[in-house]
Amino acid sequence: MREQLALLIELQKAESAAGRIQARKKELPGQLEALEKEFGAVCAVVDSAREQLEGLRKRRREKDTQLQTAQETLKRTRERLLDVKTNKEYQSMLKEIETIEAKNSRTEDEIISLLDELDQVERTVKAKEQELNAGRKGFEEEKARLAQELDSLTEELAVSVRMSDDLRGKIPAELLKKYEQIKTIRRGLAVVSVWKEVCDGCHMSIPPQMYNDLQKSTKILNTCPNCNRILYWENRNG
Ligand SMILES: [Zn+2]
Repeated sequence: MREQLALLIELQKAESAAGRIQARKKELPGQLEALEKEFGAVCAVVDSAREQLEGLRKRRREKDTQLQTAQETLKRTRERLLDVKTNKEYQSMLKEIETIEAKNSRTEDEIISLLDELDQVERTVKAKEQELNAGRKGFEEEKARLAQELDSLTEELAVSVRMSDDLRGKIPAELLKKYEQIKTIRRGLAVVSVWKEVCDGCHMSIPPQMYNDLQKSTKILNTCPNCNRILYWENRNG
């Protein structure tokens, strides 16, 4: 009986290990998803800052062109001023020049404030890109670590399952059936140790006679009168 109990205990260990591995394996996809989401958010921030920068650059080019065109018009208008015959025409042309100059001055102001804004956004983009590059390294490393963990968990699980199968083959069918029944009812441990007359499964005391038997007997299977788990004596004095 002692040898069979030892096999049961081994089986229980292998099955618990498999359970823990499966639980961890289930967590991994969620962890990976959260990681990708986090990194994706940083990427999105950088993308939007780059878009903003592109928009500003485009506006600046438009304003530059606008100013250049207006300055050419101004130059031509001033040249035409020399050919003017009447005073009325002269006054009207001066007014036209004034209007163009005022407009150009406004465009120049706009360009200056655009340059300020460009400077700021360029710095933001640079900082965000640095943040992204630093984050990318950590992200790739963590992703690789999770993939590696998944690989080794898969391997460990196969080992545990193989070990459980081997052990099952060595345990008498009757005992195995009892073990399975208790395991199902208790949703977990079916074999527990007893020390100083206390069941490790339910922490209740067992009868002294049973405790004595457990220490000596190697023939009968003892179960806890309270929780029905299969008992074995564990000498904790080392
Ligand atoms: Zn018990």
